[in-house]
Amino acid sequence: MSYELVKKVKELEPYEPISGTYKIRLDANESFFNFPDELRSEIKEAIDGFDFNRYPDSAAKELIKAFSDYYGIDPDNVTATNGSDEVLYLIASAMLERGSRVVVTEPDFSMYAFYSFLSENTILTYKKNEKLNIDIDDLIAFINDNKADMVIFSNPCNPTGCGISADDARKLVREAGNCLVVLDEAYMDFWDQPLLKEAQDHDNLIVLKTASKAVGSASLRLGFAVANKTITRALRAVKSPYNVNSLSQKIGKIVYDHKDLLKERADEIKKQTRALYDGIKKLIESYQLPFVIYEPCANFVFIETEKAKDIYEFLLDNRIAVRLFGKYSALRITAGSERENTALLVNFEQFIIQNILKRNR
Ligand SMILES: *Cc1c(COP(=O)(O)O)cnc(C)c1O
Repeated sequence: MSYELVKKVKELEPYEPISGTYKIRLDANESFFNFPDELRSEIKEAIDGFDFNRYPDSAAKELIKAFSDYYGIDPDNVTATNGSDEVLYLIASAMLERGSRVVVTEPDFSMYAFYSFLSENTILTYKKNEKLNIDIDDLIAFINDNKADMVIFSNPCNPTGCGISADDARKLVREAGNCLVVLDEAYMDFWDQPLLKEAQDHDNLIVLKTASKAVGSASLRLGFAVANKTITRALRAVKSPYNVNSLSQKIGKIVYDHKDLLKERADEIKKQTRALYDGIKKLIESYQLPFVIYEPCANFVFIETEKAKDIYEFLLDNRIAVRLFGKYSALRITAGSERENTALLVNFEQFIIQNILKRNR
């Protein structure tokens, strides 16, 4: 006899983000702002005299307090996790029984279906409409017809950048019956339709936030789940006791205390996203290309084109990384700084000139 891996993990490959060094990284929806000097000095000071020999605060009290102050919510409704990824896995595994019926939408963030697969849930896929968005009445009917136990999606959506209104999200929470609604608001700092502040008023809603995007702290791995006290108590009970390390707690607290800086930066990222969208749209129109670009509600743009793979490779050759979605023949391009976006646009236009216009002559 010999040990064999169980079937579900046998064929899995480790997650591999794009490797190599690229001059310009527009592939992971990170903030293009690094920490300013003022913040770095505060962090250095905090690390002096740090108790490296002690376990972290399992309740992450100071971090949660700073996060809650920033968003104007009650810290008693917040659970801190090791990135949103941890809480996604916890929700799919500990908060559901094996075989539970989980609705995911398509296209959407692939980790939802992945953790549901690992947790041996039954995955039901709701296809978005031709505008790549959710028709809320349709989704509600899909959930109720399928007697779903949970629905999870990102709003605004990664990778499309499209969003549904807070009214639609509210309607879903109200009308989805016994179904747990998990709203991933990872990108809501760039848009204005959150349910974050009312998460505590519902008995079937969890809103997720992250420090990885607008807050510019992807390296720290900080995620947050916001829900009523009953759900929060359960999430705190099922997480591993020391899930968020002390350094991330300490640095995260310092970051969230810089409210003005965070708001200014989110605004600047929004501005750059708009500029990137306008720039690409202008190229599409002036060269009359059959590309579709979606109005962005987040910090990236989504473009459907048969040339997605060719553009992706052309950009990589020019040391610019973006994200290719081969399945949808689409590109997702994160907004960079003004300089980075300009370089992207110059290269995008070069691709058109060298590969599309020539061919058409
Ligand atoms: C980037 C992203 C997150 C953040 O994940 P972390 O684990 O907190 O870095 C969560 N949800 C969506 C939809 C994302 O795109």
